Amino acid sequence: MKTQGKNKEIAQIEKVELHQHVDGSIPVDVTWKLMRKHGLNPVATKREMEKLLVLQAGEEGALLKYLDKFHYPQWITQFYGNISHVVETIVDEAYENNVRLLELRYAPIIHTFAGLTLRQAISSVLTGINKAKDKYPTMEVGLIVIAMRHQGPHIAKILARQAISEAQSLHDRTGVIGFDIAGAERGNPARLFGESYEIARRGGLHLTIHAGEDEGPQAIWEAIDILGVTRIGHGCSAIQDKALLKRLARDKVMIECCPTSNYQTGAVRIGDPHPILTFLEYGIPVSICTDNTTVSGTSQNKENERLLPWLKPAEMAKIHLASKKYSFIHHKNGRPRAAYAHVKPEQGKRRLGLV
Ligand SMILES: [Zn+2]
Repeated sequence: MKTQGKNKEIAQIEKVELHQHVDGSIPVDVTWKLMRKHGLNPVATKREMEKLLVLQAGEEGALLKYLDKFHYPQWITQFYGNISHVVETIVDEAYENNVRLLELRYAPIIHTFAGLTLRQAISSVLTGINKAKDKYPTMEVGLIVIAMRHQGPHIAKILARQAISEAQSLHDRTGVIGFDIAGAERGNPARLFGESYEIARRGGLHLTIHAGEDEGPQAIWEAIDILGVTRIGHGCSAIQDKALLKRLARDKVMIECCPTSNYQTGAVRIGDPHPILTFLEYGIPVSICTDNTTVSGTSQNKENERLLPWLKPAEMAKIHLASKKYSFIHHKNGRPRAAYAHVKPEQGKRRLGLV
């Protein structure tokens, strides 16, 4: 298991994790054991395997190097039993970091190469979550379904529909709570994904997006004005645009901040303060998230420790407590939160000069 951090005060904070990917968070031990079991290990030792799974010193600052680390986990996560097993271990690790509300996210389509249907690729994760929840009855866990931007808007619509079929609002047990798009922002602008977001919203799913990680503030404007998201993953480039910061604060659009990952992918320059400080100054709701515990070599405890130069543990505890309100899990029977109600995609496009 990963080191659990060194600061006792931080370890004791009850944490809320709103942005964590399944693929990038499988403990190295677990990937190694599954690789060995199936005779797939490309290297002879666990230590060598770890280098392939965890971003190494000297590999920081480039998104492509970061994304390369997702290659090997996908060799094993094409099979129902493996997927539910790795999910269970990710929840175990979060629990050890005192995470008591966990939203995992996952792109089902990249888990269908061995023949799983999209629906099975989603329900395998839910099975793992349910098994973990039996062990930790006080923990809340939900799943956000991701469509990959580079696969285009039509595939995103299909994924939104598949996500609805397992929506929490339709089931008594754990289900899909939200919809997200991820992957390269450049060349795949948010505005093209309006229909998939509308399908997800009408199906009772909450909306978030990876935006402002490798694109400027325009990408975030499109996400709020055209897609109607209530949360933004990363959102780093928002600090370049004061009007946008004010808007995010006014509408209480939450930014899911992932400090370590942001430095590793180059979204924030090494040496610069993390944008979370600006977001806090403007009164924008924020959450402290890991993104990918394995690829980023981090944990919830470590992400909080990383912010120690600027924030006291008591302030971080307040952030976690406040984040709870923005969790998609908490709207079990109701419609998604009404923050997007004012959004009229055509008006949004006109305002942004896109039509
Ligand atoms: Zn992410």
